[in-house]
Amino acid sequence: MSGRAPIVTSIVVDFDGTICEQDVSEELLQAFAPAAWWDIDLEFRRGEIGSRECLTRQAALLSGTRDELLRFAVDRYPIEPSFAPFVEWARESGIEPVVASDGMGFYVEPMLRTAGVDGLRVLTNEPLPGGPATGFRFGNAHPECVGCGTCKMQIVQRSRANGPVAFVGEGHTDRYGALFADVVFAKKHLPEICRADGVPFIAWETFDDVRDSLESLREVPGPVAPSRCPGWTIP
Ligand SMILES: [Mg+2]
Repeated sequence: MSGRAPIVTSIVVDFDGTICEQDVSEELLQAFAPAAWWDIDLEFRRGEIGSRECLTRQAALLSGTRDELLRFAVDRYPIEPSFAPFVEWARESGIEPVVASDGMGFYVEPMLRTAGVDGLRVLTNEPLPGGPATGFRFGNAHPECVGCGTCKMQIVQRSRANGPVAFVGEGHTDRYGALFADVVFAKKHLPEICRADGVPFIAWETFDDVRDSLESLREVPGPVAPSRCPGWTIP
């Protein structure tokens, strides 16, 4: 270990498909909703609707109580084994990891706790007291734009007030976070999305890869940062 200062001051990390190998929201829909949830997902992937509308309409199809859904998630899906040591390394290096999830959200903290990862900031969507089928509180949304549920652009931009930000993700809801981050780690769907947007990225498989890169990087590319987020949607 060198005594060199870390290349970034924050790391914004997606949850579904990233910290957990499976997309837990999709797994819940697969198990507790009729197949129509996938048609809504395709509307989102084609850019016809934002993630907020997508999530709300998909979750409305769910049967099962919040507790049943939560038990299903925690019992079946462990988090990526390299994540807990990564968090430990980041904290020792003075880097603040933040979880940014635009999924159903309620299972994120219980799943992290089950894996012994405590005290992380988790910014996500929160089902209303009646359960996810009844709707969500979007406490991490953009104040004007209604495109996404949780605004990853805003999370990255706020983190950038403290210095350069790394973004780690894999999917369609990571697009706008990636556009505004200083260095992007991408797998699964995200490399293709980054290529289309002109966002440079580093391929990764486990959080060990992300740590190795962050330890060896001498500079970060800096954000693409378009003047307005391409997902900008006004009601
Ligand atoms: Mg994801």
